[in-house]
Amino acid sequence: MADPTPLDEGITLRELASRSVTDLNGVGEVKAKALADVGVGSILDLLGFYPRRYLDRSREATVAQLEPGSEGMVLVRIDRVIARRTRKGRSLVEVRASDETGRLRLTFFNQPWRERQLLEGMQAVVFGKADDYQGALQMVGPVVDLIGDRTGRIVAVYPQSETAGLHSWDVDSFVGEALRRTMAVRGLSDPVPRGVRDRFRFMDRSDAYRAIHRPESMAEMAEARRRLVFDELLRIQMALVRRKLELERTSVGIVHPAGPVDGGTDVVADFHDRLGFELTGAQRRTIDEIAGDLSRPGPMHRLLQGDVGSGKTVVAVTALLTAVRGGRQGAFMAPTEVLAEQHHLGVAELLDGMTVPDSATLLGHRPLKVDLLTNRTTAAERRRIASQLVAGGVDVLIGTHALIQEGVEFGSLGVVVIDEQHRFGVEQRAALREKNRDGTAPDVLVMTATPIPRTAAMTVYGDLDVSVLDEMPPGRTPINTAWVADEKEVWQAVRDEVAAGRQAYVVCPLIDESDSLQVRSAEEAFAELSTGVLSDLRIGLLHGRVGRADKEETMRLFRFGELDVLVATTVIEVGVDVPNATVMVVLDAARFGIAQLHQLRGRVGRGAHISRCFLVGEAPTPDAEERLKALVRTTDGFELAEVDLDLRGEGTIMGERQKGRNDLRLASLRRDREWVEAAREVALSLVADGSGLEAHPELADEVDLFLGADESAFLLKS
Ligand code: ADP
Ligand code: MG
Repeated sequence: MADPTPLDEGITLRELASRSVTDLNGVGEVKAKALADVGVGSILDLLGFYPRRYLDRSREATVAQLEPGSEGMVLVRIDRVIARRTRKGRSLVEVRASDETGRLRLTFFNQPWRERQLLEGMQAVVFGKADDYQGALQMVGPVVDLIGDRTGRIVAVYPQSETAGLHSWDVDSFVGEALRRTMAVRGLSDPVPRGVRDRFRFMDRSDAYRAIHRPESMAEMAEARRRLVFDELLRIQMALVRRKLELERTSVGIVHPAGPVDGGTDVVADFHDRLGFELTGAQRRTIDEIAGDLSRPGPMHRLLQGDVGSGKTVVAVTALLTAVRGGRQGAFMAPTEVLAEQHHLGVAELLDGMTVPDSATLLGHRPLKVDLLTNRTTAAERRRIASQLVAGGVDVLIGTHALIQEGVEFGSLGVVVIDEQHRFGVEQRAALREKNRDGTAPDVLVMTATPIPRTAAMTVYGDLDVSVLDEMPPGRTPINTAWVADEKEVWQAVRDEVAAGRQAYVVCPLIDESDSLQVRSAEEAFAELSTGVLSDLRIGLLHGRVGRADKEETMRLFRFGELDVLVATTVIEVGVDVPNATVMVVLDAARFGIAQLHQLRGRVGRGAHISRCFLVGEAPTPDAEERLKALVRTTDGFELAEVDLDLRGEGTIMGERQKGRNDLRLASLRRDREWVEAAREVALSLVADGSGLEAHPELADEVDLFLGADESAFLLKS
C-alpha cells in the first residue's frame, strides 16, 4: 500500500543534542576538550557553531594584482617568519610570503603570537591594505585566515581558540562530517509548518544548516541565515507567547466593574473631571485598553511605554482608581524611595478631596486615602497602615518594594502599577501576584519611560501586552539641547535663567556605578558651585545619602522656588516634576547612556517656558560622540531608542530580562527587526487555537531544548 506522503522521519534537533561530538571520527579526547572550551559538546552545538565570516574566494587576487594603497585579498604561502623587537622594544613579526606571481611581506606589530600561528609552508588567506615598502609589497597588520587546504569558492571561517588549540579548519572538517552524517540518510526534520515556510520562501532546515556552513555563494548563505534567524526568533516568541497564555490560563483574575457599584461614586469619572486638562488621544486609547483588560476575568499584564512627560501618571492613577471604584485597593510601586515619595506627593495632590463610599460612616462616604510605605516608614506608621490595609481604610498604597515584603497584607488588592519595570526583578512581580488571600491575582500595569523599539519590546516584554503613549500633551515647550565642551557658557545660561525667575538642575556623573563616588562628586560640585561661579544663587544638594527629612525639605524648597539650583545625582532621573525648572546641566555627560540622558532631560520642558539642556564634557569614544549628537539632534524617545539599540546592540536589552542565556546566535534584534515581527505573528498564529503548542510538539520541544530548564522555571515564576 503506497503512502503518497512519506513520513517525515528526519532527525530532530533534540536527537542532535543527545549526540556527542566524540561520535565524529576526527574528534578525539584533545579536540573534544578544545570544543568543550568553546561551548560545543553535542552535534547540535557544533551545527550551531556558525562561521564568523566567509571568504569569498572569487574575489581573491594574486599578489601581482595587488595595488599599493588599495585593499585586497590573496592566498599566499608562508615562506619565512622572523620575530624580533624594534629599537623601542616593540614586538615585530615579519613574514615573507608569496604566490606564483610574486612576493608579499606581512608585518605585525605587537602580535608576538603570530610567530607561533604562522608556520613555514602554511597557506593563508590575507586581507589588508597593500603598500609599498622600500620597493617591496607589504601589508601591515592584515587579517589572516588559516584555511588549511580548504577549497571551494566560499570558505567558512570559524571562531578559533588559540588557547584551546582549535583551528578554523578543525571545526570545518568536524562540521563537514557532522553534515555528511546528518544529511546523508535521514536529513533534518523540519517542524516549522509547510505553510509558514512557503509563505516566507524559506529553504528547508537541512539545506539551511548545510548552506550556512558550506554555501555555494554568498547569496545562498544569506538565504540560509534568513531561515536560521527566523527559527531562533520563532523559538523565543513561542516561549513568550506560551508563557503569556499559560499565565492567563492558570491565574484567577479579578473582574473590575466598568462603572460605579450600587449607585456609589464614580471615582474614575470624578478624577478625570478634576484634571485641569483634556486627556490626549493616546491617553484615552490606553485607558480604554486597560479598562478592557480590567473588565475581563484574566489578570492584566500590560506594559505602558511612554516617553518622559507623555502623561503616564494619569493613566496609572486611572487604573488604580478603577480598582478603588470596585471596592478594592491599588498599589503603586516605584523603584526608589525618592520616587515613591514623589509619586505619593503627586498622587495625593491629584486625589485630594475625593471621597469613596463607606457605609460605616455617618455621611456614607469618607475621604479617599492614599498612603506611603517605604523602608523608612516608622514602625508605628507601618502598624497603622497594616491594620487599615486589611480593614480597607487605605485605598491606594504607594511605595518601594517594601510594598511586597512579608507582612504587608491587603484586604483586596485589585490593581498594581509598577513604575520603571527595568529596575524591578521578575521575582518582585511574582511576589505581588500572590498578595491576595483568596488566590486572585491583581491586575498588573508595568510602566516604563525608557522607550524601547517595538521589535525589542516584542522580544524583551513579549509576555506582556503593550500600550504606547505616543502623543505628548499639548503645550509642551521645546527643549534646546547643546553639547558643550566648556562649562563657562553653561553657568552664564544658568544665571540668566535664574535672573528670569527660572530654576536649574545640575546633575553629576555616575562614576563606576559607585554610589559613594557619585555622592562625592555631587558634594564636590555643590561645594565648588556654591563658593564659586554660582555663589550668589540659592543652591541645594540632593543625593542618595541625604537623609529623608533633608531630602524632602530640599525637594520642597526647590518645588516652591526657594532654591534656584539643585545639584543632584541621578536620583532625580525619574518622576521629579517641577515645571519652573528650565535648565538641565549634565556634567561629564558622556558617562551616561542615551536613555538616562533622555530621562534627565525630561526633567525640564515641563512648564510654559522654553527649556535648555546642556550636555557638558568631551566624548572619549566615537560611540559617546554618537550618543551626545543624537540627543542634540532629537528629543524623540523612540528615535533615541533606535540609536541606542544600534550603538549598544541587543545584548544589553536582552540582558535586562534574559540574563545569561539566550538563543540569539545569528539573529540580531537590530538587523533582523522585520523577522522579529514575522516570528511573533507566526508564534501567535501557531498557538492561537488555545491548545498551546500541543499541535506542534516538536516545535514545543525545541523551545524547551534551546531555552532550557532554567528558562522554563523563569517562565513559570514571572
Ligand atoms: P510621565 O510620567 O509620563 O513622564 P507625567 O504623568 O508626569 O508624565 O506628566 C507630565 C506632566 O504633564 C504632568 O505635569 C501632568 O500633569 C501633565 N499632563 C498629563 N497629561 C496631560 C494632558 N492630557 N494635558 C496636559 N497636561 C498633561
Ligand atoms: Mg481582570
